[in-house]
Amino acid sequence: MTSAEIVRITSGQLEEVNSKLEKLTPHQIIRWAHESFGEGRIAVLSAMQEAGCILCHMVQESGLSGRMDVIFVDTGVNFLETIETAERVSSTYGLKLVTLKPERTMEQQIAEEGVLYLSKEGQKRCCHLRKKVPLQQIIGKYDALLVSLRRGSGGKRSDVPVLAIDGELNLLRIHPIALMSDEEMDQYLVQHKVIVNPLHAQGYPTVSCNRCTTPVLPGEDDRAGRWRHLENADKYCNINPTDRKRHGDNSDFVELATETVVKILNFDI
Ligand code: SF4
Repeated sequence: MTSAEIVRITSGQLEEVNSKLEKLTPHQIIRWAHESFGEGRIAVLSAMQEAGCILCHMVQESGLSGRMDVIFVDTGVNFLETIETAERVSSTYGLKLVTLKPERTMEQQIAEEGVLYLSKEGQKRCCHLRKKVPLQQIIGKYDALLVSLRRGSGGKRSDVPVLAIDGELNLLRIHPIALMSDEEMDQYLVQHKVIVNPLHAQGYPTVSCNRCTTPVLPGEDDRAGRWRHLENADKYCNINPTDRKRHGDNSDFVELATETVVKILNFDI
């Protein structure tokens, strides 16, 4: 591809299309995304928590079974239940499971750098090495990722846009269930008998690595079980660009094929 066929876009340019996408249902957004980016250029990214499993189910329901990859980062210290959920969800909903792993095992990392996740600074490096760096393997393979962030989760997710820039991976992140409420999630789960991580029923509202996730007590915040051992922890690993960037920050950009960008920006309901 020559540079003439590539165009740069920032989040400011996505505002209009975002306001249109907000009027669509999650299934309509998924179908729009598949059509706009094209077969093979879009995948699901999921840590196999409840919302991610719903998203995978919706991809199947949108008629895209067998036509999309689901990317799962196996940090090497995931709960067995999470790995089994990734296998069950992908095979049942017809998504090809692409598992990405860090370069070193946790044992090798500890031998060389110590137990990073026991300190706040170390946790940032550990999440960088075991969650963020593995994702860099997909650079150039996809133009868009479907991700299950929701405004209803609150905190840093409370204003997540449907369509967001990921400059580091040079792709667009699409959040089809950004506007789905907690009640709608619960309803969807029951109505469609969605396969979910069994740990959710054992007191884990959110699930990450087994070293840094505990169940929560009744009345605690949903993210209270994340990095509980670290005082005043941020509670986010910040691998999602929308968790790091402030709303309206236009410093980030992606460069995509002109044809794809024209399709996205000219989208009309
Ligand atoms: S959640 Fe904990 S173990 Fe997992 S990558 Fe982050 S710091 Fe490391």
